[in-house]
Amino acid sequence: MKDNMKTADPFYKSGAWVRCREQALIRDNYLCQSCLRAGKLTTANTVHHIKPRREYSELELTLSNLESICPTCHNKEHTEKGNNKRPVSKKIKLVEEKGNPEMI
Ligand SMILES: [Zn+2]
Ligand SMILES: [Zn+2]
Repeated sequence: MKDNMKTADPFYKSGAWVRCREQALIRDNYLCQSCLRAGKLTTANTVHHIKPRREYSELELTLSNLESICPTCHNKEHTEKGNNKRPVSKKIKLVEEKGNPEMI
């Protein structure tokens, strides 16, 4: 599934988003807010939606829902959520192993 293909989403090319993104970066002094909480100063070049657009589309242009973030932290944000989907295939494998006919 390519649901993390941000560049393919026309929303990120809209003038409204480009302006909001710029405002968020200026508000956050172009610093990664996630790194900042960890006491590190890292330049942010990405603006992340704290509440995901998929569930809170009404907040997609709300500055308080936006956070400047560096690519490393941004990847983490999205990978952690994406991981929720991956164990499903692992569980299926485990079930298959437990259901080994040799055990019967
Ligand atoms: Zn960071
Ligand atoms: Zn994001």
